[in-house]
Amino acid sequence: MKIRFLGAAHTVTGSCFMIDACGKRFCVDCGMYQGNKTIEARNRDAATHDPGHVDFILVTHAHIDHSGLLPLMVRESYANPIYCTKATADLLGIMLEDSGHIQEVEAKRDATKSFRRGLGVPGQPLYTVKDAQRTTRLLSQVEYHEPFEPAPGVTVTYRDAGHILGSASIEIDIREDGGTTSLLFSGDIGRPGALIVRNTETPPVADYVFMESTYGDRDHKDEDSSVEELARAIEYSHRRGEKVIVPAFAVGRTQEVLYCLHVLEKQGKLPKDMPVFVDSPLAIRATEVFRRNAQDFDDEMHALLDAGEDPFSLSQLRYTLTTEQSQRINSHEGPAVVISASGMCNAGRVRHHLRHNLWRPGASIVFVGFQGVGTPGRALVEGRKKLTLFGEDVAVAARIFTINGFSGHAGQRQLLDWVKPVIGSGTRVILVHGEPDAQAALAVRIKADFGISAIIPGYLEELDIKADQATRISHEAQAHPPVDWAGISEGLERKWRTLAERMAHLGDRPWMEQTELQEEFARLDAALTRSLSKIP
Ligand SMILES: [Zn+2]
Ligand SMILES: [Zn+2]
Repeated sequence: MKIRFLGAAHTVTGSCFMIDACGKRFCVDCGMYQGNKTIEARNRDAATHDPGHVDFILVTHAHIDHSGLLPLMVRESYANPIYCTKATADLLGIMLEDSGHIQEVEAKRDATKSFRRGLGVPGQPLYTVKDAQRTTRLLSQVEYHEPFEPAPGVTVTYRDAGHILGSASIEIDIREDGGTTSLLFSGDIGRPGALIVRNTETPPVADYVFMESTYGDRDHKDEDSSVEELARAIEYSHRRGEKVIVPAFAVGRTQEVLYCLHVLEKQGKLPKDMPVFVDSPLAIRATEVFRRNAQDFDDEMHALLDAGEDPFSLSQLRYTLTTEQSQRINSHEGPAVVISASGMCNAGRVRHHLRHNLWRPGASIVFVGFQGVGTPGRALVEGRKKLTLFGEDVAVAARIFTINGFSGHAGQRQLLDWVKPVIGSGTRVILVHGEPDAQAALAVRIKADFGISAIIPGYLEELDIKADQATRISHEAQAHPPVDWAGISEGLERKWRTLAERMAHLGDRPWMEQTELQEEFARLDAALTRSLSKIP
């Protein structure tokens, strides 16, 4: 048996673990890579996933970093079953279509840019809404706890991961060469006490445990006070007549925030003159999917429903579907709560709301989810005083709140609690879905607590499992082609020499032309200073 790490290796995005066993090839998750241009270029390299030779796909949950490349697989000839829970299938129905729509819009925008610059025919969208719709027709629903056999020799069982609606950890028993090997893929592991969804289940002991490590280096603080912390942000901005901006993933986090606001409304802590805008068409559709999947709610939610309450409704709730409605929020005078995607502020409508509110003393920005390295959200959480939005520097005068109780991910202590009962004699632990520092810290704790040296695989690495021997095969050169620094340095030096030569004669040019060139070089100088400040 062989397992190839096609994503979520030393990073949190692009989850995909390709398994060769029992003469079949299948994968757990097929997520989109998110990050800088080099990382996102991996999305276009369908050959890595080899869609024509994959027999089936198991999906842990609907988040795009676990499902976003499914339509690409389908476009590239994949036509076999995609297994997931009912709620995941419902969510994928709206999320993949939304993702296809984003791809189409981006491709169109790039095309316009390309034509405007006279660069000729641009690239195609990664995939389209049609590809997404064809993908959802391949979804095959599975029940939690009911083992099934997608191929002879392969038995699969889904268990509740408590992360988002429909999320699962997946156990796979492989019967091969006269023995059975059990693999456990954690998926994203939820936090005990998470809102709306049930708590994470404890799966049985496994031979190989592939576990997420997003918060491997830290515990969440003050998880219990999340509702009060949200109330504080509301009170702070309401008193000052300003807005509370909540950057949130449309699926999961938005519904949790709505649920908390529902609780605050009941406690009289949500002022009546403070409208709540949910500014994301996807969030609106996702909330409907949540309503249709009450079978996966926890006891608290059922108690509310039994009492005849709608936990996602508020008397002052306003949904904004169109871009025009979204823009009107910014001309709305007075206090308001605005829930808008994306959660890390690297895309979407929330960037407009930040531009309008970040510089306003009295406004609040409330972070309710994980903020990846390099994202504007992370910069704000770490106390950055200025943010560049739409090419313009915006000062940070708003108050920044980080509420940990909304996190969909287990903290370090909770990850250790999750893994403890699945470790038996000879269990190997493989850490995925985490940034290097978080993974290293979790590995240290796993060694200290359980005496196990966890494996931290790199991108494209293979784990070759024979009997109870596991061999690591790295593909470093292919995974991380060296960056051509010599080329960059030579190019810069050459230009610097030319510039020095030509500058000697610049004083003879017309004054107006000189001032324009001066401004141009000042911009260049500022850009160079910014780049240099990143190299210690
Ligand atoms: Zn997730
Ligand atoms: Zn994830």
